[in-house]
Amino acid sequence: AKCGTDGNFSSGEIVPFGPIALSPSAGVLNYGQGLFEGLKAYRKTDGSVLLFRPEENAIRMKNGSDRMCMPAPTVEQFVDAVKQTVLANKRWVPPTGKGSLYIRPLLIGSGAILGLAPAPEYTFLIYVSPVGNYFKEGLAPINLIIEDNFHRAAPGGTGGVKTIGNYASVLKAQRTAKDKGYSDVLYLDAVHNKYLEEVSSCNIFVVKGNAISTPAIEGTILPGITRKSIIEVAESKGYKVEERHVSVDELLDADEVFCTGTAVVVSPMGHTEDRMGWTMQLN
Ligand code: PMP
Repeated sequence: AKCGTDGNFSSGEIVPFGPIALSPSAGVLNYGQGLFEGLKAYRKTDGSVLLFRPEENAIRMKNGSDRMCMPAPTVEQFVDAVKQTVLANKRWVPPTGKGSLYIRPLLIGSGAILGLAPAPEYTFLIYVSPVGNYFKEGLAPINLIIEDNFHRAAPGGTGGVKTIGNYASVLKAQRTAKDKGYSDVLYLDAVHNKYLEEVSSCNIFVVKGNAISTPAIEGTILPGITRKSIIEVAESKGYKVEERHVSVDELLDADEVFCTGTAVVVSPMGHTEDRMGWTMQLN
């Protein structure tokens, strides 16, 4: 298959959660050829279940499949598979206000390949799990450490797509930050080491007066679906939203900072105190 084309997937089935069989030489295990998505189903007060903009996740996976040189399900196939999986697991969608059902679609190079090349076969699967708050702080302010030794993505790399390898590269920085008592890591751009990029699993916004600024999508940060929704909401409320380079100095001088993502929803960050250490303390 050519990079980014519609895959020829056979229709799937719903099976109990459990191990899957893979060849030791599967493309995903050796060369990281894999994409994932994350979205949520919420229960409304009338008991019905709502999916938040699943088409957006389907489109993002499709876009990522070109960069990762793999075929992807069509938007219709993706959304239909998500719906069927959620319907089969409807009883696991928590009641309103008690969390949500996290949905994890995975697209992997499952075919065996020894030399470096795109895998000859692909598997698309979805698993789900009920979840509560992502940060132990809940929706109270989180504290982030600004990382200037490790970078999450470089121009020309894969930071703009949701490929599994991007997450392997942040594990060490995240573990170090958590060991020091921080909630998560805020990454800077790899070229200047001074502009904000994003947090391990969310996009960042800086509020100053009536202006809300967020790093522009230029290939090194993930185009978050929550980010896009928040921009729409903020503009509709009369805020001026700027997608551009946002410096660490602006962050330290902001009225408010928050982070957006499917898992973290909208998480506020504490007020800045410590400029020297480039850390953000709770106030
Ligand atoms: N950045 C990264 C690196 C992420 O993993 C996520 C979570 N998908 C986000 C931002 C936020 O994206 P979304 O709002 O689509 O969940």
